[in-house]
Amino acid sequence: MRVLVINSGSSSLKYQVRDTDTNEVAANGLIDRIGEGAGGPADHGEAMDQVAAALEDELAQRPLDAVGHRVVHGGERFSEPVLINNEITRSIERLNPLAPLHNPANVLGIRAIAAKWPHMPQVAVFDTAFHRTLPEHAWRYAIPDELYRQYGIRRYGFHGTSHQFVTGRAAELLGVPVHAFNAVVAHLGNGVSLTAIQGGASIDTSMGFTPLEGLVMGTRSGDVDPSILIFLQRQGMSAQDIDTMLNKESGLKALFGDNDMRAIVDAANAGNARATLALEIASYRLAKYIGGYHVAVGGAQALVFTAGIGENSADFRALVVSRLSALGVKLDGAANLVRSREPRVVSAPDSLIPVLVVPTDEEQAIAEATAAVVRGE
Ligand code: AMP
Repeated sequence: MRVLVINSGSSSLKYQVRDTDTNEVAANGLIDRIGEGAGGPADHGEAMDQVAAALEDELAQRPLDAVGHRVVHGGERFSEPVLINNEITRSIERLNPLAPLHNPANVLGIRAIAAKWPHMPQVAVFDTAFHRTLPEHAWRYAIPDELYRQYGIRRYGFHGTSHQFVTGRAAELLGVPVHAFNAVVAHLGNGVSLTAIQGGASIDTSMGFTPLEGLVMGTRSGDVDPSILIFLQRQGMSAQDIDTMLNKESGLKALFGDNDMRAIVDAANAGNARATLALEIASYRLAKYIGGYHVAVGGAQALVFTAGIGENSADFRALVVSRLSALGVKLDGAANLVRSREPRVVSAPDSLIPVLVVPTDEEQAIAEATAAVVRGE
C-alpha cells in the first residue's frame, strides 16, 4: 500500500509517502511557519494544498491508498490505531485539554485532508496507545482521586509507536516470540523515555501526564520536586514561564548550554567540566530507571537502545552501561562502535543479558499500522 504519513504540529507539517510493501520512502518534506504570516501557509488547509502540489507528479504515477496521522494523545479511549470518521475526530478534539499544542493541530490536519480528498481512508496512530496496558499501580499518581476523575490526571506515557516498533524488532532479532519478551527499551532522542516491556506489552514508562516526566532530555527537565514549581510561582513566575523553563530551557541545554549530544560528548572529551557533569547526570538518572524497570518486568531479557542518541552515540551508551555492572551487563567495545541502520547486538558475549541497538522508524510504523487498519486486520 501507498500511505501518506502526516505529523502535524501547531505551526509545521511533516509528511512522508511510504510504500508498505517495499518500505521505500517515495517522498518526504516539511511545511513550516503555518499561520505565521511572512509568506507561509495561512492554515493547515493551505499547508495540505502545498503538500498535494509537491506530490502531484508522484501521485500521478501511483495514487495514495490511505493517510496515516501521528496523533499525540489518545487519552484512555484509544489503545490501538483506528479508522477515522467524524465521531473519532471529535473524540480526538475532546482530548485537546490533555495535549493543547498537539491534538488541535492533528485535528486540523485530519480535517484538511477530509476536505481535500473526501474518500481517502484516514487512520489515527496514537503516541499514547501502546501504554494503555499499564496497570493501575503504574499509572496512578498518589494525589486525590477527584483530580483523576475531573481532569484525567494520570500517567499516559508517550513515544508509544516507537517503543512498540522497537520491541517487535528486538524480539525478532533475538528469536523470541514478542508475547513472551521482557525488556527495557530506552528511546533516547531529543525527547527521552524508558519503557518496561513484559510479555511484549508496556507495563511502565517514564513519561507521565505529559512528556515532561521522567528522564533528563534535550531541553526538558524530567523529574523534579513538584514543590519547586509552587515555590517559583510564589516568587512571581507565571505558569507560562514555568512551562517554558521546564520544557524548553532545561535538560541538557540547561546543564551544558547545548542539547546536541555530539557537542556535549566532544566538549567532555576536550575536558569541559560542565559537559562531563551533564553526561553524568543524564546517564546516572537513566541507569537508576533501567535498574527499576529491570525489577518491574521481573528480569529483562534485553536492554534496547533507540532514537538519535540511542542509535548513534556509542559514548553515551557506554556511559550508561558502565553504571549497570550490578546487573551483569557489559558492552562489547568494538560492536558498540559499529554504525549501521540494522538492529544489532552490542553487548559482550559474557553480558548477563544482551544489549541491543534497534533503529526506530516512526513513519514506517505509522504506515504499517495504517495499512493494517485499512485492510481490516
Ligand atoms: P531524535 O529526537 O531521535 O531525532 O534525536 C535527536 C538527538 O540525537 C540530537 O539532539 C542529538 O543529540 C542526537 N544525535 C543525533 N545524531 C547523533 C550522533 N551521531 N551522535 C550523538 N548524538 C546524536
